[in-house]
Amino acid sequence: LNRRLAGHGSTIFAEMSALAVKTGAINLGQGFPDTDGPEEVREAAVRALRDGRGNQYPPGPGVPELRAAIAAHQQRFYGLDFDPDSEILVTAGATEAIAASMLALLEPGDEVIAFEPFYDSYAASIAMAGATRVPLTLRAPDFRPDLDRLRDAITPRTRLLLLNSPHNPTGMVLTREEALALAEIAVAHDLLVVTDEVYEHLVFEGEHIPLISLPGMRERTVSISSAGKTFSFTGWKVGWVTACPALVAAVRTAKQYLTFVSAGPFQYAVAEALALPDSYFTGFREDLRGKRDLLAAGLARAGFAVHRPQGTYFITTDVSPLGEKDGVAFCLALPERCGVVAVPNSVFHDDPEAGRTQVRFAFCKRHETLTDAAERLAGLGR
Ligand code: PMP
Ligand code: GLN
Repeated sequence: LNRRLAGHGSTIFAEMSALAVKTGAINLGQGFPDTDGPEEVREAAVRALRDGRGNQYPPGPGVPELRAAIAAHQQRFYGLDFDPDSEILVTAGATEAIAASMLALLEPGDEVIAFEPFYDSYAASIAMAGATRVPLTLRAPDFRPDLDRLRDAITPRTRLLLLNSPHNPTGMVLTREEALALAEIAVAHDLLVVTDEVYEHLVFEGEHIPLISLPGMRERTVSISSAGKTFSFTGWKVGWVTACPALVAAVRTAKQYLTFVSAGPFQYAVAEALALPDSYFTGFREDLRGKRDLLAAGLARAGFAVHRPQGTYFITTDVSPLGEKDGVAFCLALPERCGVVAVPNSVFHDDPEAGRTQVRFAFCKRHETLTDAAERLAGLGR
């Protein structure tokens, strides 16, 4: 393994899911739903397969039906106009979009400022591009970004802000004021901005504001999203980029040599999913809101300090009220102690002290699974 990837050995999600399988514990670690997305969307994938749509290499930028559907979605939810031919690129999940963006936009030695705790592929993607990550720590209890610290962190080498809202793992959702301030900083320092918006439809408090919609941002922002979370098909790996033609062309150049194209039939199915009525999107959000409340209450009863998320499908807790000093040790012991798997937030930090006692639980699971998990966790203090 080369020096760039040293320290990125295996992802925490794979490790914790393997632990769940090995111990038979309830997996509230890796974020994936335990119920698949809408039947009609699955049927659309089957139809595409049967009708021979997408069984051979689809067009590099994505099938036209999906690009049109992504443009219509951006218009419907945010009033944004994107040209499906020059301003949209379909990728193999948001993960590839993030990696391709870093590879296409960064020079070795460039600095990238990203919120920490960060989704683990950010650190690896920045490293693969030979760039340096500069963390902007979101601190408990409310995980708001400290904009003065951000201003202080900017150097002549700073090239790009990699932002994520709704934020995994804290559940923080940027307010309009914060989004405007971030945009102003990006413009003032002439920075590129990559926004990871995979949880755009999971906002329980506040609203999702695409940074690309703000003044001065259209020409400097790469907006990324994915069908995995919104439609509960994380295994399909259909994601996308929306940006101005020059930025899409840059990201497409890198994507061409990573995967060339993404799986064809799923693209047709996601095109249909994006056209589902508004009731699907609100129903999905309200269902997850109920699950958030259910798990939050269970965790509080079990003695955790609960940081109530405004979005995503994760709850970050603090385990110190349980007398625990280290989230990693806590998570490694948890399956044996009570049959539940969670993820320690400290692995999403550069500074291991930051987030030392924070632990993340995913609530994208059936009600009975969450109730069962809460019951098991309640036994911890007994
Ligand atoms: N960004 C964040 C913040 C995530 O939580 C995830 C995991 N779904 C991804 C990106 C990756 O998305 P995908 O599965 O579409 O590659
Ligand atoms: N995004 C999901 C999480 O944060 C999982 C993604 C993955 O396993 N790479 O848990």
